[in-house]
Amino acid sequence: MKAAVLHEVNQPLVIEDISVPNPGPREVLIRTKVAGLCHSDLHFIEGLYPHPLPAVLGHESAGVVEKVGSDVTYVKPGDHVVTCLSVFCGTCDNCTTGRPVLCTDTTVKMLPGQSNRLSWGRKEKLNQFLNLSSFAEQMLVHENAIVKIRKDMPLELAALIGCGVITGYGAVVNTAKVQAGESVVVIGCGGVGMAAINGAEIAGAGRIIAVDTNPAKLQLATKLGATDVVDPRNGDVVQQVRDLTNGGVHHSFEVLGRKETAEQAFAMLAPGGTATIVGMIPFGQKIELHGFDFLRERRIQGSSMGSNHFRVDMPRLVEFYMRGKLHLEDWISAKIKLSEINEGFANMKAGKTLRSVIMFDA
Ligand code: NAD
Ligand code: ZN
Repeated sequence: MKAAVLHEVNQPLVIEDISVPNPGPREVLIRTKVAGLCHSDLHFIEGLYPHPLPAVLGHESAGVVEKVGSDVTYVKPGDHVVTCLSVFCGTCDNCTTGRPVLCTDTTVKMLPGQSNRLSWGRKEKLNQFLNLSSFAEQMLVHENAIVKIRKDMPLELAALIGCGVITGYGAVVNTAKVQAGESVVVIGCGGVGMAAINGAEIAGAGRIIAVDTNPAKLQLATKLGATDVVDPRNGDVVQQVRDLTNGGVHHSFEVLGRKETAEQAFAMLAPGGTATIVGMIPFGQKIELHGFDFLRERRIQGSSMGSNHFRVDMPRLVEFYMRGKLHLEDWISAKIKLSEINEGFANMKAGKTLRSVIMFDA
């Protein structure tokens, strides 16, 4: 089968022939139908986050089950599934206390370089990425890395839920638990930020302020629920937000992954407000905050994959789409082939796209 392999950071991905073995007892072989390009993949391509190479990236996908291992009862061949990198064991302390995103069982949630699921007829090991590797025609995954979805859900829209949508929506609903009427700021309105905005709208947030340097993104944000927009090029972002909110917001979400914007997210909080950092700030970088701000009970927290319980959350997101509350069609800027993946990332870097999705059957 064909897969896009990253050999070295800052080099184009190369389409190569690779293979996967038959599923082990708790594994599922999936025919990949759609894979979205997420900015997290780009962070790894650019070496801002380390990963053993060569590797097949990709982690936002949907497909159809082809084969299941001997102990798998959850799915059968033909089922439609969405993948999630938040693979869980179900028995560690974090899983059993309701935080499966933080699963600590590394036999299930394997560490980078640990999985031996991909091979390619060379001595050199080919690494699986985040226990998924979606930029490939097939995926071999643990059964707890997938969720079944209804078959009338278009797979290209379902794929988006697998990372971008669950991350943005979940940051608002699960991590920050935004209450009806509270004010929200989303800094960075890409695929993930847009889901935070749509999620804030679903949660009944009051003021929803979108911050982005791209006017086209701000326009779409308004369609998805933003009540106000802020362009950083028009002056100090923190001051602009304070002016709009009578002194500060209840919830800010940094969905970009930069030191400056993470600091802005904290600085724009009202007393008692919470900043949630969703963006992946380059590995090793530190952020600076004013200590005084903590005296008024301002908080800052991380959010991993929207603190999801994806077996519950993702089918609910499908229902939101079906009921017209989640505007997934608006996310897709381009449908591309696997062979066009490098162009897809170049467009992401240039800010031209919200989401490009690889259509494997096209
Ligand atoms: P994206 O490239 O689609 O979007 C980034 C957006 O930021 C663009 O709309 C761009 O115009 C805007 N932008 C650029 N500079 C800006 C500035 N100074 N101020 C405001 N906006 C600005 O990215 P994405 O796929 O939505 O991912 C966003 C971030 O979320 C990335 O860092 C990604 O790695 C991270 N992420 C985190 C998790 C998690 O579990 N925490 C999961 C998925 C993605
Ligand atoms: Zn992602």
